[in-house]
Order: sequence, then structure tokens, then C-alpha cells
Amino acid sequence: MKKYYQYIVILLDDTSVSYCHADNPLKEKRLIPLEVLREAILFSMKENLMIQFVYPEYELPKEYNDLIETIDHIKIGKDVLVYDSVPTNVERKNVVLRLAIADFLAKQYDIALLLPKVTRLNISITDIENFKDELIEDYRTALEMLNSVLLNIYKGGNSPEINILTDRLRLNEMHNCDAGVENITLAPNGKFYLCPAFYYDEQMGVSTRMNHKTKDASRSVGDLEVGINIPNKQLLELERAPLCRICDAYHCNRCIWLNQKLTWDNNTPSRQQCVMAHIERNASRDLSNKLKDTGFVLENEIKEINYLDPFDVKEEF
Ligand code: SF4
Repeated sequence: MKKYYQYIVILLDDTSVSYCHADNPLKEKRLIPLEVLREAILFSMKENLMIQFVYPEYELPKEYNDLIETIDHIKIGKDVLVYDSVPTNVERKNVVLRLAIADFLAKQYDIALLLPKVTRLNISITDIENFKDELIEDYRTALEMLNSVLLNIYKGGNSPEINILTDRLRLNEMHNCDAGVENITLAPNGKFYLCPAFYYDEQMGVSTRMNHKTKDASRSVGDLEVGINIPNKQLLELERAPLCRICDAYHCNRCIWLNQKLTWDNNTPSRQQCVMAHIERNASRDLSNKLKDTGFVLENEIKEINYLDPFDVKEEF
């Protein structure tokens, strides 16, 4: 099925906050030139793309703010606040917590205390490669605890979202990150990338694109002049991912950057990503059943399964 770009991520500076799995290793300020920002907004208007501007920590010059306010957008780093640790309080209702798995497990009760204060909490684990099978039970137990807190809040009439537990409740088809398929990233250098992580890799000289011959670490897929040009774009799509297309962990990020890092293939997931997503999927099932028992009406039925990695049972599909 052909998909069209729906939104664009515009990194306003090299030091714009990271809001997902990949850390931003770039420490020197490099503000997007005003003219490039103007062209990027024009491109987005022509292509009918919703814009997500990603902010650095410092204040932008007035002319940048004025230009940004000429178009509808979301401000990541401002409207959506990103934390690299668990705060005691949150200054926005929509927040991202970027945590290593050990920190997530260690701070799970502090995270639970944030739930009544937010409308949406996105948990992004920054070292999925470190998720070992020995952590399966710990992760499952932590999600069970968060479920019980959520259940009480829901009974009280509020319904905060937490990506790893509540997104799956209302999904009946894949809703992944879809970098390069439904969205694209523009960096301060005026070039397009599949997502910010590919830009960071390029800037740090990391080239792990094993199926492409490259003399340098170039990871761009076009620029504002030539447009978006992704070689073999179809290879990023769900239909070309044999495991993912028959999986029902619909909330899974299906992170292509992580795939490439861990399996050397954009569309082949790692065991770590699949196992974590299935523990979350199963926790969503538990939450769904408990909500239904309490009288909530949820149309989705999440069936019981006996595996955590679809690769283990692929013969059954
Ligand atoms: S859990 Fe694994 S197979 Fe399922 S969508 Fe995520 S990456 Fe793909």
C-alpha cells in the first residue's frame, strides 16, 4: 500500500533535544539558517505536511519565532517536554521520559507518581540493546504496577495515556514510527534524513549502512532543492517486513534506526525490540481486561498469546 508523508520533523539546531531512542551526541550550536527554515516551511506547505519543530534548550532569535508562528506546528522541547531522567514534577501535560532500562526499572514508582499529573507520558528506552531476557520478569512486573496505578486513576474519572500501556488499547492496525514512510526529518544543513538519528550518525561519522557502498558517512535522502529521494523506499514499508506485518504489537515503534544498528537491516527487528513490545502488548491486554471488568467499554479484543518474540513462532503464522 502506497503511503504518503504526513508530517515533517524540523531540527532547528544541531543541539535540538532528542525525544526518542537515539541520544543526540552533537554539542555545538548550529542554528538552521533563517532562509533554510523559510524554504522548509514552504516545502511543508506545498506537500501538505504537519510540522514538528524540535527546539534546542536556548531561546531562538525573534525572527525565528516570528517565522515559526506563521504556520501550524507542534513544538517538541516546549509543548512536549522531554526529560532524560524522572522529574519530581512536570511542567507540561504531555511529556517524554528518555530512560535507560535500568533507570526505568529503578524509578518505576517515581514514574507512577507522575501519571495523575499528565495527559500523556511517552516512555522511550534509550538502550534497548541492553534488554536481556533476564529482565523480562522485571519489566513485566513494573508494567503491572503501572497498570494498577492507571486503573485507579481511570476509576477516578481521568484517563492519562502512557504509550507503552494505553496506545495498544485502541489500535486495531499497526501504528509505528514510520520514519521515511509517513514522516521525514529536515536537519539544520537543509538535507533530509529518515529520522534525526540518521543525521546524528552522519555527523558523528558513523556509517553502518551495510547494503550501500559509501565513501563517507553520508546518510541524507535528499535536500530542499531536489526533494526527498529514498533509494528502495519500499524496503522500509510494513508490507516488506515479514515479521512485523503479521504481528499485533500494534503500538511498537518498529524503529528502523534501531533495526539497522542491531540487525544491519532497516526492516528487520531485533529480539530486544520484539520482546519488550510484546511484554507491553500483554500488559495492555491485562489492563484492557481489568478496565472491562470495571465497566469500561473497549471494543478491541487483544487475544492471549504464548510467545514474546514472533520469530520464535514464525512457522505458526
Ligand atoms: S514487536 Fe517485533 S515483529 Fe512486532 S511490530 Fe515490533 S518489531 Fe515488528
